[in-house]
Amino acid sequence: MTSTQIPTRYDWSYQEIAAYFDLPFNDLIFQAQSIHREIFDPNKVQLSTLLSIKTGKCPEDCAYCSQSNRYDTGLSYEELMEVEAVVEAAKEAKAAGSERYCMGAAWRSPKGRDMAKVTAMVKGVKALGMETCMTLGMLNKDQANELAEAGLDYYNHNLDTSPEYYKQIISTRKYQDRLDTLQHVRDAGMKTCAGGIVGMGETRDDRIGFLQQLANLPAHPDSVPINQLVKIEGTPLDLTLEEQIDSFEFIRMIAIARILMPYSYVRLSAGRETMNDEMQALAFFAGANSLFYGDRLLTTDNPESSKDRQLFKRLGINNEEHVIDDLSDDGLNGDPQTQSVSAGTSENSLFYNAV
Ligand code: SF4
Repeated sequence: MTSTQIPTRYDWSYQEIAAYFDLPFNDLIFQAQSIHREIFDPNKVQLSTLLSIKTGKCPEDCAYCSQSNRYDTGLSYEELMEVEAVVEAAKEAKAAGSERYCMGAAWRSPKGRDMAKVTAMVKGVKALGMETCMTLGMLNKDQANELAEAGLDYYNHNLDTSPEYYKQIISTRKYQDRLDTLQHVRDAGMKTCAGGIVGMGETRDDRIGFLQQLANLPAHPDSVPINQLVKIEGTPLDLTLEEQIDSFEFIRMIAIARILMPYSYVRLSAGRETMNDEMQALAFFAGANSLFYGDRLLTTDNPESSKDRQLFKRLGINNEEHVIDDLSDDGLNGDPQTQSVSAGTSENSLFYNAV
């Protein structure tokens, strides 16, 4: 990251954000790209790998999620993984070029008995020299402190959508609960990863409200995942939603997130599998500079790592840490990343929980 004079603001108004949405597309993308290259190397992306460490039987009712025990999605339950298996999978992700290892558990919040195991996972992955991230549901102050003491770098907890639309999506925890968890994470000294999902039937007003919430948090999230809804059979959103979000509206979300939170890593997250190369390239141009890397995002497909590397090569994009290898000696079968996301758990146990 280079030094810059671009200010960080926490007082974005609804009208200001709405005005960005109303800009002609090219003007918006130009502004976002101009800010992006002032702060970041525009040809580098940060790569994270995501592993499900406990899958399914979540008591929450998030209307998009295959892991909720309220919906019949056919997902197999997997109990909390062993520490050694998690560290082994992280090693392979590192070998494949991933810099950050994200571990997700389908919990409302971690139980006391789980904390020893998850903190051991953090220590094990940190010892490999990787950054660590977890998403375990809501945290109280003590849990946040415990994770921070173990060395956890990032904690993911998404706001999901606007406060107004939120009640259409989740009834088992309040928007304020999410804000409180993020506060505990910040107070404990960890970095935050917070974003949400678009294409859940929300209006543009909701998208504005959602970005306004993120951009006016006491500190901008260090990572801002912008997910495009992937409809999962058996979930309420699969049954009720007919239309997909317009591609240009999605790119506008990325661009405006970049403008409002100029120093954050904006992550192109779930939904990439349905995006063509051109749309992903446009998302990078709009300011996305972080990706989940690997063949599965928890419950949904993600582009194959080899396909990602081909795309990066065609675009001249590199990993923040090192040059991404070409594919001359590495097909899918030999891809260590493919092995890493499958390690320790069956394929259908890898889930997406809006990380
Ligand atoms: S998104 Fe997270 S909290 Fe919500 S049902 Fe899925 S696993 Fe549970």
